[in-house]
Amino acid sequence: MEQENLDLRYYAKVHSIESFGTLDGPGIRFVLFLQGCSLKCKYCHNRDTWDINSGSYKSLDDIYHKIMHYKNYIKKGGITVTGGEPLLQYQFLIELFKKLKKKNIHTCIDTSRNG
Ligand code: SF4
Repeated sequence: MEQENLDLRYYAKVHSIESFGTLDGPGIRFVLFLQGCSLKCKYCHNRDTWDINSGSYKSLDDIYHKIMHYKNYIKKGGITVTGGEPLLQYQFLIELFKKLKKKNIHTCIDTSRNG
């Protein structure tokens, strides 16, 4: 799918998904790695997330249903969105987190932005 055809509130460029993460926030977490970061930090251990032209678009519904599939495992943890820089795709994050909050699922963002 090409970006020009997509409503970016409902689609995200995804690098990968980890369904059982224990290192990216409190408890057991579903970890969504979004594609794209322009900072190129020397210490980055996710360099394959840098290229915004890589990865693949996934729909909000697809990701939401994947998360809900693991809801019993993550009920004392939650979901973490990282990357890459997840706030490059903030429109998608707003819609995803609104849906997750309705289900009382804890959310975290792993971001380089501080303001
Ligand atoms: S902000 Fe994060 S993902 Fe981006 S280059 Fe730096 S460490 Fe890597």
